[in-house]
Amino acid sequence: MVRDLLDVLLAVAVGGMFVSAVTRLRRGQARPRLCAGCGRAVARVYATCPGCGRTV
Ligand SMILES: [Zn+2]
Repeated sequence: MVRDLLDVLLAVAVGGMFVSAVTRLRRGQARPRLCAGCGRAVARVYATCPGCGRTV
């Protein structure tokens, strides 16, 4: 009985972390930065534009 409750709590905790991670990821992809040099969307992982090398 107690074990079942712990399993449920664990499942909820893991599920919550997964949902928040996915939400953060989707929000990041929904609003990409735009390069001032060439105007293309640059992912946040890049410090410089892969197209023209300009710092974003
Ligand atoms: Zn660029």
